Amino acid sequence: MRLDKSKEVFDKTKRYIPGGVNSPIRAFKNLSITPPVISKGKGCRIFDIDGNEYIDFVLSWGAMILGHCDPDVVNSIKEVVEDQIAFGAPTEIEYEMAKLVCETAQIDMVRFVNSGTEATMTAVRLAKGYTGKKKIVKFAGCYHGHHDIFLKEAGSAVAELRLKGIDEDIVQNTIVVEYNNLDSVEKAFKENKDEIAAVIIEPVAGNMGVVPAKKEFLQALREICNLLGSLLIFDEVITGFRLSLKGARALYDVEPDLITFGKIIGGGLPCGAVGGKKEIMQCLAPQGNVFQAGTMSGNPIVMSAGYTTVKKLKENPDIYTYLESLAQKLEGYLAKVFSNSNLTFCINRVGSMLTVFFGVEKVENFEMARMSNLDQFKKFAEYMITNGIYIPSSQFEAMFLSSAHMESDIERFAEVAESFAKFVKK
Ligand code: PLP
Repeated sequence: MRLDKSKEVFDKTKRYIPGGVNSPIRAFKNLSITPPVISKGKGCRIFDIDGNEYIDFVLSWGAMILGHCDPDVVNSIKEVVEDQIAFGAPTEIEYEMAKLVCETAQIDMVRFVNSGTEATMTAVRLAKGYTGKKKIVKFAGCYHGHHDIFLKEAGSAVAELRLKGIDEDIVQNTIVVEYNNLDSVEKAFKENKDEIAAVIIEPVAGNMGVVPAKKEFLQALREICNLLGSLLIFDEVITGFRLSLKGARALYDVEPDLITFGKIIGGGLPCGAVGGKKEIMQCLAPQGNVFQAGTMSGNPIVMSAGYTTVKKLKENPDIYTYLESLAQKLEGYLAKVFSNSNLTFCINRVGSMLTVFFGVEKVENFEMARMSNLDQFKKFAEYMITNGIYIPSSQFEAMFLSSAHMESDIERFAEVAESFAKFVKK
């Protein structure tokens, strides 16, 4: 695969943007290939400026559940943009979108922001304001955005960096415990009695690769929080509207106090949201005294793209059945390919989120994900991408499917994976 033009543009960009990217993971830092510079996306395919075509299993890190440039989403943007770009004042589409999100995700109230990071920051501030407590519990390997309070043993691109510039005074109020390990949570509560405002968790982690929480574990978190007066926050920035209309909550039958959204909720445009119980949500300014604001929050173009996306999902819930069956097939094909090759591997999948780990048989937390064969994953990612299967460049990310993927796309993935397995055996 030729990436000459991509290399030229990427190198030029580095002159003006640190590392050539506006978010670190895009730089392919741990791969030895240049990141393709993307010029177009349609359905499940993306195209780069060298004319290469890829089947996309990254999908803007999970955002594009309907595939790229879904015609209804594109039209909804076109319809709005002639008359409404930004006012910083109330618009009717905000009401429509809030009503749709609350009814679809079954929450009382919602506040829209511009990113997942803003959503989680707001959720934690709300929890602190509501409970009057100052500490939070988070899990190693979970990523909740780039605010200081979350950058302690975080997954995603943070997993591969030695961080600087973090305010230690703030971070000392973040207690990190092990995913799927109740003892470590109980210990944190014992050692920080009456000080924990909230436990924040990705109910299905996507940022250490896909690692699902165990049902009993989430249920136990709910009980501990109830007992000790802390809030439970589900960070559903990835899983919200991806695993079901009600997100991961529906799979686990556990109700958090607050939920954060991002990615899918904006239909591919910059958007996040925090939602949950009325009693807590109404503490937000101007109704209450927990401050949060945003010049661009609830932007009409973003609301319109998000509204169309969520409405389409709501009106076609069979999309989730389709995604499940497609993802199940992909998991089956990959399991067969790698079993035949005698590679040690483990596939973690929940709905249309999936990760392959090499060199391990089981991954239930960040420690186990880190123990996997990262070098093998690097080879896998390079091979797949240079053969037209666009997957995450890091082990600590998830692959995603969209409603635009077809069975033939999954079969192509399996074919390339099979030739990779033969290639590594040589
Ligand atoms: N929470 C989770 C679970 C995420 O995966 C991410 C981003 O990937 C965030 C929060 C932060 O979202 P954003 O990148 O929109 O700030």
